[in-house]
Amino acid sequence: MRASCISKTYGEGLIKLIGKRYGLLTIVQDVGVKKKNRLVKCRCDCGRTKTIQLRSLKSQNTRSCGCLRDGKIGALNRTHGMKGTHKQHPLYLVWRGIKTRCFNPRCKAFKTYGARGITICAEWKDDPVAFAAWCLEHGWKPGLTIERIDNDGDYEPSNCEFISKSENTIRRLRREQRDREHFYILAALSMAA
Ligand SMILES: [Zn+2]
Repeated sequence: MRASCISKTYGEGLIKLIGKRYGLLTIVQDVGVKKKNRLVKCRCDCGRTKTIQLRSLKSQNTRSCGCLRDGKIGALNRTHGMKGTHKQHPLYLVWRGIKTRCFNPRCKAFKTYGARGITICAEWKDDPVAFAAWCLEHGWKPGLTIERIDNDGDYEPSNCEFISKSENTIRRLRREQRDREHFYILAALSMAA
């Protein structure tokens, strides 16, 4: 790990660090120095607080309280052995769901996502923290679902919004109704021809 971060830390005004954000973590309190490491108390977007070494925040080794596993772990490869000791952040599960729909042909929904060319942007693909941070900044709350604005577009910042589950159902029914109408019109046209 990058030990060079420590020396920089000591010179800084600590007050300035309060409120600073690293991934899902916001520094709320300076806890002091222990074994030459500055410790800070952080509040995670999931609601929990945790005391963390400042240098691991700065080196981006720690970007959540543990509720959101960081990209490096290769979460998709671990789908079967996932017996996490800590609870996962709901947005981690959302991210994993998107990746499954887009990339796993054995997933039932793959035919309406990956098989139709729907994918997830490079920024989010291997980085659940970047994805979760964007969601939280753009109004995601528990109970809301992520929706692609253009149904043929990808999971990317310009094409995503959050809606309630009931709104999601209404839109899906409306889409199905429209598809059925198109089908009948086409059928009628082909009979008339
Ligand atoms: Zn958390």
